Amino acid sequence: MAVPKQGHTRAKVGKSRMHKYIKKVYLSVCPKCKKPILSHTVCLNCGFYKGNEVLNVMAKLTKKDKKAREKEIQQVEKEQKKDNPLTMEEMSQKK
Ligand SMILES: [Zn+2]
Repeated sequence: MAVPKQGHTRAKVGKSRMHKYIKKVYLSVCPKCKKPILSHTVCLNCGFYKGNEVLNVMAKLTKKDKKAREKEIQQVEKEQKKDNPLTMEEMSQKK
């Protein structure tokens, strides 16, 4: 068995352990479904990235999960409509 040549002081041990901590993960919010996501990655909840659908999330879900997810998406869309009652396209059509 290896035996340490010299004992380490608390300071030395502390210094070596200084970088061995769990780093905080900084999350951003998905603009479509408002869930926390890692930045520069596809949202795994809705499958959108930069406003385009990249993943078909619904394809791998079971029937029960699909219904729940669709309900969730509809709720989020309703909330978004409340916040922004008219989009830019709708505004231009009315005039
Ligand atoms: Zn999303």
